[in-house]
Amino acid sequence: MRIIIMGPPGVGKGTEAELLVKHYQIPHISTGNIFRELYKDRTTVGKIAKEYISRGELVPDDITNEIVRHRLNHQDVKKGFLFDGYPRNIEQAKALDEMLAKQGTKLDAVINMTAPEELIIERISGRRVCETCGAVYHIHNKKPKQEGICDHDGTQLIQRNDDLEATVRRRLRIYKNQTAPVIGYYEKAGAIIHINGTQSIKEVDAQVMKALGETN
Ligand code: AMP
Repeated sequence: MRIIIMGPPGVGKGTEAELLVKHYQIPHISTGNIFRELYKDRTTVGKIAKEYISRGELVPDDITNEIVRHRLNHQDVKKGFLFDGYPRNIEQAKALDEMLAKQGTKLDAVINMTAPEELIIERISGRRVCETCGAVYHIHNKKPKQEGICDHDGTQLIQRNDDLEATVRRRLRIYKNQTAPVIGYYEKAGAIIHINGTQSIKEVDAQVMKALGETN
């Protein structure tokens, strides 16, 4: 299964992505996570990416596409993959098409999740993360057992710079201008599945599974 999951930041893509990769046993490729890893490892690319990420801007296409090209050469993507947060503009969508064509493969599904802006802002600005294990919590919707502390490893939770309200608003603006047109790109190319992201995790997953032709 080769899947892309799209939608504005905070729509719940990451959560649905986790369920899908578990179901299909495919790697979850999140360019945002790759950039954060590269930064944590103090790589040059990671440091450059961090500058853009902190401002809520997109990392330049040449860097992003190169990272994806490299990732697609790994053995584990032979059985499929799920892209989360990529492609983020038309140029990246075209670059991905080329990479897949070279491998003689193509996408099976593009899932587009939607939600109103104000809900997204509430969801993201309440998000807290563990920098040690990557676990994500929410101050109202997914509280850790002990306030401000990761359930898995006891690390103090933090709010990412790019989750601050002003940054979220900028990210949403960039999403509208640059990423939303990608939906039109895939609509023209074939099937795209639209899912209302304001529903519960269970409802979202049930709809996605149904649209992908899974019955159980
Ligand atoms: P995410 O975790 O997907 O929200 O990504 C966090 C940040 O990483 C984004 O706000 C961008 O700055 C950067 N980023 C992630 N994926 C991409 C991409 N495909 N193209 C450009 N920048 C990206």
